[in-house]
Formats: sequence, C-alpha cells, structure tokens
Amino acid sequence: MANRKPYQLVSREWKKEDTTFEINGVCIGKDLVMIAGPCAVENREQIFTISEYLSKLNIKFLRGGAYKPRTSPYSFQGLKTEGLQLLREAADKYGLAVVSEIMGLDKIDEFCEYADILQVGTRNMQNYPLLKALGKSGKPVLLKRGMSSTIEEWLLAAEYIVSSGNDRVILCERGIRTFETATRNTMDIAAIPLVKILSHLPVILDPSQGTGLRDLVKPVSLAAIAAGADGLIIEVHNQPEEALSDGDQSLYLDQFTDLLPNLRAQAHLRKKHFDFESSYEFSNLS
Ligand code: PEP
Ligand code: MN
Repeated sequence: MANRKPYQLVSREWKKEDTTFEINGVCIGKDLVMIAGPCAVENREQIFTISEYLSKLNIKFLRGGAYKPRTSPYSFQGLKTEGLQLLREAADKYGLAVVSEIMGLDKIDEFCEYADILQVGTRNMQNYPLLKALGKSGKPVLLKRGMSSTIEEWLLAAEYIVSSGNDRVILCERGIRTFETATRNTMDIAAIPLVKILSHLPVILDPSQGTGLRDLVKPVSLAAIAAGADGLIIEVHNQPEEALSDGDQSLYLDQFTDLLPNLRAQAHLRKKHFDFESSYEFSNLS
C-alpha cells in the first residue's frame, strides 16, 4: 500500500522497528530515559547542588536552560554562554549528559561544544532553517511539540531534521494550548501512543511545562509511562520558591526522589530498563 503520510523517513511505514541510540550509557528508545534539572541555570551553586543530587539517584541526563525563551523581554533571559559552561562543568563532574535549548542558528557551534542533546523549544518547532541546521549538526535533538501544532506538523518538523541527515531525534510532548487555563497547557497524553503508532522515533513527555503545577508532575509522569512514553524531562530545583523561572512547576529534590519508586513500578510493567536509586523498593510506593 502506498505511504499516504506527508512525512516519510520518520514514519512507522518507512521503518518498522523502534529507533534506538545510546547516549551516556542509556539506550534511548529502549531504556526509560530520565532528564532532570532546573528550568534555567542560575548560578554555580544551584547547578552543582542539583547535579550532585541527581547523580546520587543514578540520573544520567541534566537539563538546564542557558538561553531562555521568555514570554516577556523583562524576565530572566538565562546566563547564556556562562550557563552552558556551568552545565558542562557540573555534568562532567557528576557523569551527566547535558540537555539544553538552542534558540538560534548562530549558536550551533557553541551548543555543539557544550551540550550533548540540543533541545528545540515549543516556540521554535517550526523554525525550519534551525531544524535543517540541526540535521547537519551531528548532535541528537530533543524536539518539543509546538504549543499550537498538530501531531502531523510535529512529525513534519522531525522530518526536516531526519531528512537533513540526523536520525537521532527524540520527540517530546509538552502540552498544547486549549481553552483550559487551570493548567499551564493541556497535557495531550493520547499523543504518546498515537505517535508511537505513527513513528519509530522515541517519544518522551514533559509534565512540568505540560501542567505548570508541581503537584501534577507525579501523576502525569506515571500516566505518560503507562501510555508508552520512552522517558520524561522534569524540572527539579533545590529552592523552587527562589527559582528565576518556572518555580511553581519545579519539583523539590525530595519530591523528585519520591517519584522514582513509583515510576519504577510502571517501568517494570512496560519491561523498560530502570536503574535509578537502587535502594528504593516497591514498598516505598505512595
Ligand atoms: C523548557 O523546557 O524550559 C521550555 C521552555 O520548554 P518549552 O519549549 O516546552 O516551553
Ligand atoms: Mn521551563
């Protein structure tokens, strides 16, 4: 039967088996990947404290914005190059891989030097020159879904990267705009199993941007793994009330620890490899 989808290379029709690739000892698309860290890198103490904590839980991926796409030009815009340097230093010290958002074409060389996974934010999902350049960058890309984009538009954005020569793409559902204002975005959980049917690429979920509320991060994370997600990207902060961005949706460090045994149970049901915080047992479930 002819392939009627507008996207080709990213489609399940093109390639039946799941795309998997290894980064920092984790097989993305097969193992459960956990990316955690603050919304933004704020200072050395913050990023080193969080990194040390995460490494003790055996987390392998550190997130942190160095260039922040803020709605208001008066909000904290990130530490920029210094932020990337701090991420790299902390990550190297604690055995982590760096995930950070790239906003513009002019920063590709800088990001290739300091980051391990280049994140494309929701606002840039349709920045086609950037997507094409990332296709040639040789670095894995975390592609957020545009907040007002359909699943087809999102997969076509991924097609830009893959057709430019880079098949190490991780899709990330991060909630969409609807009439609902009680949550920051509306978490489209159904997108996860649907994209797993339509595409062979790994799909993870961002419950932090998706809900905007830290109390919703745990239940939505569990729902995502049950729905078939290959992992999560979660905002975690040592002092959320002092955070320069997204404090309300950032987990306290002990809240993040508490999430792990619960996730382990879900991962077990899905036969997903899970090796975080080995001292936790099922009896810790809450
Ligand atoms: C973020 O991860 O901090 C972020 C800005 O994400 P999004 O592009 O999904 O809003
Ligand atoms: Mn954020």
